[in-house]
Amino acid sequence: MTELAYLPTMDAAYVRQFRAKVVALPPGGVVLDRTYFYPTGGGQPCDRGTLGRPDGDRVEVVEVTKSGPAVRHRFRGGARGRIDLQLGEELEGVLDWTRRYDHMRLHTAQHFVSGRAFARTGRRTRKASFSSSRAILELDGPVDEGLLPLLADDLHAAEAPPRAVTIRHLPRAEWERHPLSERSGLVPLPPQVDPVRVVEIEGFDLCPCGGTHLRSTGEIGRVAFEAPMPLGDGGSRLVFTLTGGPPSAPTA
Ligand SMILES: [Zn+2]
Repeated sequence: MTELAYLPTMDAAYVRQFRAKVVALPPGGVVLDRTYFYPTGGGQPCDRGTLGRPDGDRVEVVEVTKSGPAVRHRFRGGARGRIDLQLGEELEGVLDWTRRYDHMRLHTAQHFVSGRAFARTGRRTRKASFSSSRAILELDGPVDEGLLPLLADDLHAAEAPPRAVTIRHLPRAEWERHPLSERSGLVPLPPQVDPVRVVEIEGFDLCPCGGTHLRSTGEIGRVAFEAPMPLGDGGSRLVFTLTGGPPSAPTA
Protein backbone atom coordinates (compact mmCIF):
# COMPACT_ATOMS: atom_id res chain seq x y z
CA MET A 1 0.00 0.00 0.00
CA THR A 2 1.44 3.36 -1.03
CA GLU A 3 0.08 6.60 0.40
CA LEU A 4 -0.44 9.11 -2.44
CA ALA A 5 1.17 11.97 -0.53
CA TYR A 6 0.65 14.56 -3.30
CA LEU A 7 -3.15 14.26 -3.07
CA PRO A 8 -4.65 15.68 0.15
CA THR A 9 -3.95 19.41 -0.20
CA MET A 10 -2.92 21.89 -2.88
CA ASP A 11 0.40 22.46 -1.09
CA ALA A 12 1.16 18.71 -1.15
CA ALA A 13 1.38 18.91 -4.96
CA TYR A 14 4.31 21.34 -4.57
CA VAL A 15 6.56 18.98 -2.58
CA ARG A 16 9.62 18.15 -4.69
CA GLN A 17 11.77 16.24 -2.19
CA PHE A 18 10.67 13.69 0.40
CA ARG A 19 11.66 10.61 2.39
CA ALA A 20 9.82 7.29 2.44
CA LYS A 21 10.39 3.64 3.36
CA VAL A 22 10.87 0.70 1.00
CA VAL A 23 7.93 -1.74 1.31
CA ALA A 24 8.50 -3.97 -1.74
CA LEU A 25 11.23 -4.62 -4.31
CA PRO A 26 9.65 -5.74 -7.59
CA PRO A 27 12.14 -6.44 -10.43
CA GLY A 28 13.71 -3.22 -11.66
CA GLY A 29 12.06 -0.90 -9.21
CA VAL A 30 10.73 -0.15 -5.77
CA VAL A 31 7.44 0.35 -3.93
CA LEU A 32 7.45 2.92 -1.11
CA ASP A 33 5.10 3.43 1.84
CA ARG A 34 4.36 6.94 0.53
CA THR A 35 5.25 8.87 -2.60
CA TYR A 36 5.06 12.33 -4.12
CA PHE A 37 5.74 10.90 -7.59
CA TYR A 38 2.54 11.04 -9.64
CA PRO A 39 1.84 7.68 -11.34
CA THR A 40 0.59 7.76 -14.94
CA GLY A 41 -3.19 8.13 -15.00
CA GLY A 42 -6.12 10.33 -15.95
CA GLY A 43 -4.28 11.66 -19.01
CA GLN A 44 -1.40 12.99 -16.90
CA PRO A 45 2.01 11.40 -17.53
CA CYS A 46 3.98 10.12 -14.57
CA ASP A 47 6.65 12.08 -12.76
CA ARG A 48 10.33 11.36 -13.17
CA GLY A 49 13.28 12.13 -10.93
CA THR A 50 15.65 10.22 -8.68
CA LEU A 51 15.53 7.94 -5.65
CA GLY A 52 18.39 7.00 -3.40
CA ARG A 53 19.85 6.98 0.06
CA PRO A 54 20.09 10.41 1.64
CA ASP A 55 23.67 11.56 0.87
CA GLY A 56 24.26 8.25 -0.96
CA ASP A 57 23.84 6.55 -4.33
CA ARG A 58 20.89 7.66 -6.43
CA VAL A 59 19.12 6.05 -9.36
CA GLU A 60 16.97 7.65 -12.00
CA VAL A 61 13.21 6.97 -11.88
CA VAL A 62 11.96 6.68 -15.47
CA GLU A 63 8.41 5.39 -14.97
CA VAL A 64 5.85 5.44 -12.14
CA THR A 65 2.74 3.27 -12.32
CA LYS A 66 -0.10 2.42 -9.97
CA SER A 67 -1.25 -1.15 -9.67
CA GLY A 68 -4.02 -1.61 -7.12
CA PRO A 69 -2.89 0.10 -3.91
CA ALA A 70 0.84 0.01 -4.78
CA VAL A 71 2.83 2.63 -6.70
CA ARG A 72 5.86 1.19 -8.48
CA HIS A 73 8.87 3.38 -9.32
CA ARG A 74 10.85 1.82 -12.17
CA PHE A 75 14.56 2.56 -12.43
CA ARG A 76 16.54 3.36 -15.56
CA GLY A 77 18.19 0.17 -16.76
CA GLY A 78 15.65 -2.02 -14.97
CA ALA A 79 17.09 -4.62 -12.61
CA ARG A 80 20.69 -3.88 -13.60
CA GLY A 81 20.30 -0.26 -12.59
CA ARG A 82 18.98 -1.07 -9.15
CA ILE A 83 21.05 -0.19 -6.15
CA ASP A 84 21.16 -2.83 -3.43
CA LEU A 85 18.06 -1.83 -1.48
CA GLN A 86 16.68 -3.40 1.67
CA LEU A 87 13.06 -3.65 2.79
CA GLY A 88 12.32 -1.04 5.44
CA GLU A 89 15.18 1.31 4.61
CA GLU A 90 14.56 4.99 4.09
CA LEU A 91 15.04 6.58 0.68
CA GLU A 92 15.00 10.16 -0.48
CA GLY A 93 13.02 11.04 -3.60
CA VAL A 94 13.60 14.12 -5.75
CA LEU A 95 11.13 15.01 -8.48
CA ASP A 96 12.00 16.41 -11.90
CA TRP A 97 10.22 19.62 -11.03
CA THR A 98 10.27 21.24 -14.49
CA ARG A 99 8.36 18.27 -15.89
CA ARG A 100 5.88 18.05 -13.02
CA TYR A 101 5.23 21.81 -12.90
CA ASP A 102 4.47 21.88 -16.64
CA HIS A 103 1.96 19.07 -16.05
CA MET A 104 0.35 21.07 -13.23
CA ARG A 105 0.10 24.15 -15.45
CA LEU A 106 -1.33 22.16 -18.37
CA HIS A 107 -3.75 20.27 -16.16
CA THR A 108 -5.08 23.38 -14.42
CA ALA A 109 -5.42 25.18 -17.76
CA GLN A 110 -7.26 22.14 -19.15
CA HIS A 111 -9.85 22.24 -16.36
CA PHE A 112 -10.37 25.92 -17.11
CA VAL A 113 -10.62 25.45 -20.89
CA SER A 114 -12.98 22.46 -20.52
CA GLY A 115 -15.15 24.52 -18.16
CA ARG A 116 -15.30 27.54 -20.46
CA ALA A 117 -15.83 25.42 -23.60
CA PHE A 118 -18.82 23.84 -21.85
CA ALA A 119 -20.16 27.20 -20.65
CA ARG A 120 -19.84 28.78 -24.10
CA THR A 121 -20.83 25.88 -26.40
CA GLY A 122 -22.32 23.08 -24.28
CA ARG A 123 -19.56 20.78 -25.52
CA ARG A 124 -18.26 18.40 -22.91
CA THR A 125 -14.73 17.08 -22.60
CA ARG A 126 -14.70 13.33 -23.00
CA LYS A 127 -10.92 12.93 -22.82
CA ALA A 128 -7.85 15.01 -22.02
CA SER A 129 -4.15 14.20 -22.06
CA PHE A 130 -0.86 16.03 -21.63
CA SER A 131 2.59 15.59 -23.05
CA SER A 132 5.52 17.90 -22.29
CA SER A 133 4.06 21.35 -22.97
CA ARG A 134 0.94 20.30 -24.88
CA ALA A 135 -2.65 19.56 -23.81
CA ILE A 136 -5.04 17.62 -26.06
CA LEU A 137 -8.78 17.76 -25.37
CA GLU A 138 -11.50 15.79 -27.13
CA LEU A 139 -14.90 17.47 -27.08
CA ASP A 140 -18.19 15.68 -27.75
CA GLY A 141 -19.19 17.83 -30.70
CA PRO A 142 -17.91 20.30 -33.28
CA VAL A 143 -16.62 23.72 -32.25
CA ASP A 144 -15.94 26.78 -34.31
CA GLU A 145 -12.56 28.45 -34.60
CA GLY A 146 -14.26 31.61 -33.28
CA LEU A 147 -14.30 29.94 -29.87
CA LEU A 148 -10.51 30.29 -29.52
CA PRO A 149 -10.23 34.05 -28.95
CA LEU A 150 -13.10 33.79 -26.46
CA LEU A 151 -11.28 31.08 -24.52
CA ALA A 152 -8.08 33.13 -24.62
CA ASP A 153 -9.97 36.18 -23.29
CA ASP A 154 -11.57 34.07 -20.56
CA LEU A 155 -8.19 32.73 -19.52
CA HIS A 156 -6.66 36.19 -19.46
CA ALA A 157 -9.53 37.44 -17.28
CA ALA A 158 -9.05 34.50 -14.89
CA GLU A 159 -5.31 35.08 -14.53
CA ALA A 160 -5.43 38.77 -13.64
CA PRO A 161 -6.44 38.98 -10.90
CA PRO A 162 -5.53 35.36 -10.23
CA ARG A 163 -8.17 32.93 -8.96
CA ALA A 164 -7.57 30.39 -6.23
CA VAL A 165 -7.61 26.70 -7.11
CA THR A 166 -8.77 24.53 -4.21
CA ILE A 167 -9.84 20.99 -3.37
CA ARG A 168 -13.19 20.04 -1.88
CA HIS A 169 -14.28 16.58 -0.79
CA LEU A 170 -18.01 16.35 -1.50
CA PRO A 171 -20.36 13.45 -0.73
CA ARG A 172 -20.97 11.71 -4.04
CA ALA A 173 -24.73 12.31 -3.95
CA GLU A 174 -24.14 16.04 -3.40
CA TRP A 175 -21.70 16.20 -6.32
CA GLU A 176 -24.07 14.32 -8.62
CA ARG A 177 -26.78 16.90 -7.88
CA HIS A 178 -24.42 19.80 -8.58
CA PRO A 179 -25.22 21.66 -11.83
CA LEU A 180 -21.56 21.57 -12.91
CA SER A 181 -21.36 17.77 -12.65
CA GLU A 182 -22.86 17.72 -16.15
CA ARG A 183 -19.76 19.30 -17.72
CA SER A 184 -17.52 16.40 -16.67
CA GLY A 185 -20.23 13.73 -16.72
CA LEU A 186 -18.86 11.94 -19.80
CA VAL A 187 -16.03 10.54 -17.70
CA PRO A 188 -17.73 8.15 -15.27
CA LEU A 189 -16.52 8.09 -11.67
CA PRO A 190 -15.48 4.66 -10.43
CA PRO A 191 -18.37 3.20 -8.39
CA GLN A 192 -16.45 3.14 -5.09
CA VAL A 193 -15.54 6.86 -5.16
CA ASP A 194 -17.34 8.63 -2.28
CA PRO A 195 -16.61 11.34 -1.21
CA VAL A 196 -15.50 12.89 -4.48
CA ARG A 197 -12.29 14.96 -4.68
CA VAL A 198 -13.42 18.01 -6.62
CA VAL A 199 -10.98 20.63 -7.92
CA GLU A 200 -12.45 24.15 -7.92
CA ILE A 201 -11.22 27.14 -9.90
CA GLU A 202 -12.72 30.05 -8.00
CA GLY A 203 -15.69 31.46 -9.87
CA PHE A 204 -15.16 29.29 -12.97
CA ASP A 205 -15.14 25.54 -12.64
CA LEU A 206 -15.58 22.42 -10.54
CA CYS A 207 -14.38 19.02 -11.70
CA PRO A 208 -13.62 15.68 -10.00
CA CYS A 209 -9.95 14.84 -10.43
CA GLY A 210 -7.08 12.96 -8.80
CA GLY A 211 -4.30 14.79 -10.64
CA THR A 212 -1.92 17.55 -9.56
CA HIS A 213 -2.90 21.18 -10.03
CA LEU A 214 -1.67 24.71 -9.39
CA ARG A 215 -2.71 26.71 -6.32
CA SER A 216 -3.63 29.69 -8.49
CA THR A 217 -4.56 30.47 -12.08
CA GLY A 218 -1.85 33.16 -11.93
CA GLU A 219 0.77 30.43 -12.39
CA ILE A 220 -0.62 29.11 -15.71
CA GLY A 221 1.18 31.66 -17.87
CA ARG A 222 0.66 32.08 -21.60
CA VAL A 223 -0.94 29.41 -23.77
CA ALA A 224 -1.50 29.23 -27.54
CA PHE A 225 -4.45 27.40 -29.11
CA GLU A 226 -4.34 25.46 -32.36
CA ALA A 227 -7.30 25.44 -34.74
CA PRO A 228 -9.93 22.89 -33.61
CA MET A 229 -9.80 19.65 -35.59
CA PRO A 230 -13.00 17.75 -36.43
CA LEU A 231 -12.94 14.05 -35.53
CA GLY A 232 -14.53 11.29 -37.59
CA ASP A 233 -17.15 10.54 -34.95
CA GLY A 234 -18.53 14.10 -34.82
CA GLY A 235 -16.38 15.27 -31.95
CA SER A 236 -13.51 17.70 -32.12
CA ARG A 237 -9.97 18.00 -30.89
CA LEU A 238 -8.74 21.12 -29.16
CA VAL A 239 -5.01 21.55 -28.55
CA PHE A 240 -3.08 24.19 -26.66
CA THR A 241 0.55 24.57 -25.64
CA LEU A 242 2.40 26.44 -22.93
CA THR A 243 4.29 29.16 -24.76
CA GLY A 244 6.43 30.60 -22.01
CA GLY A 245 7.48 30.22 -18.44
CA PRO A 246 5.10 30.75 -15.54
CA PRO A 247 4.48 34.39 -14.52
CA SER A 248 5.89 33.88 -11.03
CA ALA A 249 8.31 31.36 -9.60
CA PRO A 250 6.57 28.70 -7.51
CA THR A 251 7.59 28.05 -3.94
CA ALA A 252 7.79 24.59 -2.47
ZN1 LIG B 1 -7.30 17.60 -12.91
